[in-house]
Amino acid sequence: MTKLSLDRILQSQGVGTRKYCRTLIDDNEITINGEIINDYRVKLDTDGLVFVLFDEEWIYRERVYIALHKPPNIECSRKPSHHPGVLSILPEEFTWRELQPVGRLDHDTTGLLLMSDDGSFIHAQSSPKRHVPKIYVATTHDPVTPELVAQLLGGVQLNDEPAPLRAISCKMIDEQHIEIVLEQGKYHQVKRMLVAAGNHCVALQRTAIGAMTLASLALEEGDWCYLTPEQCALLA
Ligand code: URA
Repeated sequence: MTKLSLDRILQSQGVGTRKYCRTLIDDNEITINGEIINDYRVKLDTDGLVFVLFDEEWIYRERVYIALHKPPNIECSRKPSHHPGVLSILPEEFTWRELQPVGRLDHDTTGLLLMSDDGSFIHAQSSPKRHVPKIYVATTHDPVTPELVAQLLGGVQLNDEPAPLRAISCKMIDEQHIEIVLEQGKYHQVKRMLVAAGNHCVALQRTAIGAMTLASLALEEGDWCYLTPEQCALLA
């Protein structure tokens, strides 16, 4: 059981600064189990805690794990330079909680992006020692051919890599679309592999990370959802 003072609880959930949280508490804005709590020093058990702020229910979460269907023209970088950052399309509390993407997608790549404020989860998921397959669907400039598929499976040499990189699986979807499964996450890897194989990518979507698919999450572009512990376990 973890007991925290009410102001710390609100702050940990991304409500705002400690000062702002105390002001909300003083102003009778926090209700728990139908009762207004207006003493910020009150210590509460965080297990299963639900509080209401401005008519909105907040479920206490020690850590947050989300899946986002990333739209195009959004940067994953912490300091975006040319396009809005990914936190700008998510609820403000995620900015306060400093959620970070697990790995990155290019600004023009769409699809499944995981985010969390759990440093160990991010670190474990991003480690190159883990071989979590990631599935991409690329729309190609030139028609997809059996030779292209064979080249990606056989390995293509990228100029800053010591050895050829290969897709662990690859298949033609139709003349303009190819599914590529990679275990590594090198810089612009899919795009550069397609160029090295003599074609190039005009659009790219990540459709799955390990056993977690975008289709199973049923998220529209720009939508996100919390991941359950069971869903997080699918990534383990
Ligand atoms: N490969 C790319 O080229 N871009 C991405 O965003 C992800 C994988």
